[in-house]
Amino acid sequence: MNKYAVRCLQCMQIHDPYSMNCKNNDTSLLRTEYSAKQLMPLDLPGIWKFYDWLPVNGIIEQGSGKTVTYRSEAFASELGLDSLWIAFNGYWPEKGAELMTCTFKDLEAFPTMQRLKELKETRVMVVASAGNTARAFANVCSITGQPLLLVIPEASLHRLWTIRADSSSICLATVEGDYSDAIALAGNIAARDGFVNEGGAKNVARRDGMGTVMLDAVLTSGQLFDHYFQAVGSGTGGISAWEASLRLIGDGRFGSKLPRLHLGQSLPCAPLYSLWNDVGEVSATCPEGMYADVLFNRKPPYAITGGVRDALEATNGTMYAVSNEEASGAQALFEKTEGIDINPAAAVAVASLMQAVEQGNIKPDDSIVLNITGGGQKRLMQDYQPRQLLASIAVSADDPCAEDRIVEAATEVFGTRL
Ligand SMILES: *Cc1c(COP(=O)(O)O)cnc(C)c1O
Repeated sequence: MNKYAVRCLQCMQIHDPYSMNCKNNDTSLLRTEYSAKQLMPLDLPGIWKFYDWLPVNGIIEQGSGKTVTYRSEAFASELGLDSLWIAFNGYWPEKGAELMTCTFKDLEAFPTMQRLKELKETRVMVVASAGNTARAFANVCSITGQPLLLVIPEASLHRLWTIRADSSSICLATVEGDYSDAIALAGNIAARDGFVNEGGAKNVARRDGMGTVMLDAVLTSGQLFDHYFQAVGSGTGGISAWEASLRLIGDGRFGSKLPRLHLGQSLPCAPLYSLWNDVGEVSATCPEGMYADVLFNRKPPYAITGGVRDALEATNGTMYAVSNEEASGAQALFEKTEGIDINPAAAVAVASLMQAVEQGNIKPDDSIVLNITGGGQKRLMQDYQPRQLLASIAVSADDPCAEDRIVEAATEVFGTRL
C-alpha cells in the first residue's frame, strides 16, 4: 500500500502524488490522505518525527528543526487564561527549538526539498518571497545543493541572511518594486525551460509541513484545542492547521471538535480580513505602513475549494485586524513575560489573542494554541554570526528586459545546469 494519496477536493479523483493542480482543471487545492490513520511519532530528527503524515518517501537528515510546544505561565496569567499553549517556531536552544532561519517557513522548505530530491529534479527551483520563505529555502538548498533562484523585493534584502558557509547553489535577484512584482517575474521565469515553480499553497508538502505545528501542539497537550491563533498573509498556515485537525480527529484519540481558527492580519493592509468581512479594497500603497509587511499578500488562496474561506467556515473561525500600536504592545508584553524575542508577524497573532480575550471571544478555561510563527532571531545572533546573502542581479520591475536579465544571471550562476 502507498504511504499516501493526493486527492482533488472538487472532482474527488486521486492524482499523481507530486501534482500541484487537478488534472481535470478544477481550481481546488489537492489534499493528502495518509494510509496511517493514527499519528505515531518516529524517532527521527526535527520535523521528520511526523514522517507518517508528511508526503515524503525519505528524509533530509541534516538541519531540520521542529515546533516546540509548551504551556505558558507568565503570559497566560497576564491574560487570565488557564490553558494557553505556545507553539514556538524559531531558535530557542534552552527549549530545544532549532528552526535555524527563525520562522515556520523552515517547516515548508524541508518537505518541499525532499520531494524535489525524490523527483531527481535538476531544474532550478524558483521562489518569490518577501523574505522569510526565501531565507528558509536558501537554508535548505545550501544543505542539499539544489539550484535555487530567489526573486525578492529589494526592500526585503536584509532578511536574506544565512548561517551556512556555502551558498553556491543560490542565485538571488532583487526587484525594485513590491512583492507582487517579484511574484509576477518569478512566475514567468518558472514557466521557462530549465526552471520549476515550488507551488506555494498548492504544494501539499508546504501545507502538511506547516500542519506539523498543530500535530506537535496536540501531541504535547494530549487533546485538540478549542482555539488556534495565527498571523496570516496567504492564510496557508490556517488551511494547514485545519487539515491537520481533520486528520487528528480521524486519529480518534484527541477529541472530535475542530479548533476554531482565529487568524490575524496587520493593518493597514489586511486583504483576508477584508474578504472575510466583505469590507473595503486594499490600498495601492500596500505594504507600506504595516508592522509586519511579510503578512502582505495581494492574491491569497481565499475562495478556492479547500482555501481560507472554507477553513474559516468549517471551523467557525474568525479574522482579526491589528493596528501597529497593538502589535508592538503585544510584542513587548510577550517578550517580557515569556523571555524570548518574537518576529513582528508573530506579534500580530499575540495581539489577535489579546483582542479575542478583550472581546470575550474566548473563555478563561478554554484551551488555546498560539502559533508563534517566528522567533528567536535576536537569540540566534548571540550564538551565530550570520552573513548577508548578496544579490547576483538587481532589476527594476519597470524594465521590460528584467526577466531576461534575471535568466541571464541565473545562467551565469548555474552554467551547464541550465
Ligand atoms: C509567512 C509567515 C506568516 C504567514 O503565513 P501564512 O502563509 O499566511 O500562513 C506568519 N508569520 C511569519 C513569521 C511568516 O514568515
